[in-house]
Amino acid sequence: MTTTFLPFSRPTIDEATIAAVSDVLRSGWLTSGPKVQAFEAQLSEYFGGRPVRTFNSGTCTMEIALRIAGIGPGDEVITTPISWVATANVILEVGATPVFADIDPVTRNIDLDKVEAAITPRTRAIIPVYLSGLPVDMDRLYAIASKYGLRVIEDAAQAIASSWNGRRIGSFGDFVSFSFQANKNITTSEGGCLVLNDAAEARLAEKYRLQGVTRTGFDGLDVDVLGGKFNMTDIAATIGLGQFAHLDTITATRRRLARHYFALFGADFEANTGAQLPVADFENSNWHMFQLVLPERITRAVFMEKMMALQIGIGYHYPAIHLLSLYRARGFGDGMFPIAERVGQRIVSLPMFAAMNEADVERAVRAVKSVLQ
Ligand SMILES: *Cc1c(COP(=O)(O)O)cnc(C)c1O
Repeated sequence: MTTTFLPFSRPTIDEATIAAVSDVLRSGWLTSGPKVQAFEAQLSEYFGGRPVRTFNSGTCTMEIALRIAGIGPGDEVITTPISWVATANVILEVGATPVFADIDPVTRNIDLDKVEAAITPRTRAIIPVYLSGLPVDMDRLYAIASKYGLRVIEDAAQAIASSWNGRRIGSFGDFVSFSFQANKNITTSEGGCLVLNDAAEARLAEKYRLQGVTRTGFDGLDVDVLGGKFNMTDIAATIGLGQFAHLDTITATRRRLARHYFALFGADFEANTGAQLPVADFENSNWHMFQLVLPERITRAVFMEKMMALQIGIGYHYPAIHLLSLYRARGFGDGMFPIAERVGQRIVSLPMFAAMNEADVERAVRAVKSVLQ
């Protein structure tokens, strides 16, 4: 039996990608250039020909979408309390007001009934998150958006290659934001991309990502909006191109590993332990993570410590955003979103990455059962 440490996530970069990055480093062109253009062209084709622009994070990608939508002070944006804090921070970043809607205890995604109940005359947008790569009910989401005239900025950071009833996430809808941070299903080390609706939005995205600059002719340069410094480098785009070539295999591997987790936990696991498995969806989800909600009788800290002693890495994604100090200081507090609060305290991410094999899943499941039984 092996005793090497099994992390909860680990990127795989092939030798061809490493060689391609070396070529870029030797080429004399490091920042945004032909590799960024090639990566954007491939992503656009993947998302059904919709315009796509890349950035240096998935966070700024969402912030820029909010700016393109003209959302700012006085506007409310509805989102989930269970996400990486970036999802809510971008709302504050543009000066708008975050409004949380509690999650569905089964999918752990934002509850669309509660979204509808949270809409006010000041609501301008919804930012849904597809936790672990499992989408929300996309038909219902866009029915609500169209009924109330709201923009949607999909935080699909975890959902590349996920789909909804046979349609790829990103190939339809309003703004769709993806992250290529190192732990995501494909990575550029750090980075992100935004799928947009038309050429005018794409042009604005280009301005916001680079100081608001427009260039014309040989020496024409003007700035008419306040942009920042959010462009992707050719080094990062080269990693992305190398990763993108494996996306179908990565997704198939993760779905196979997820099925293996379910098979090994078995039908009586929830009844025996009081832990809650994720939704067994092998069509729509890309299985970015395999997450359990722990039973009341063990704290997450104790669970993580015992798993660590068995050489199994455990992540937690995520603590409820509205209970973080920055949000408490804005009037949020305990008891406001009880399902998110319970899940935020008890959710754990088991090892799940494309270089894992069935024996790793067996090790992880054996460890979880020994700790919980
Ligand atoms: C990773 C992630 C982000 C942030 O992406 P970065 O590329 O790290 O800025 C935002 N939301 C969710 C749900 C994520 O998983």
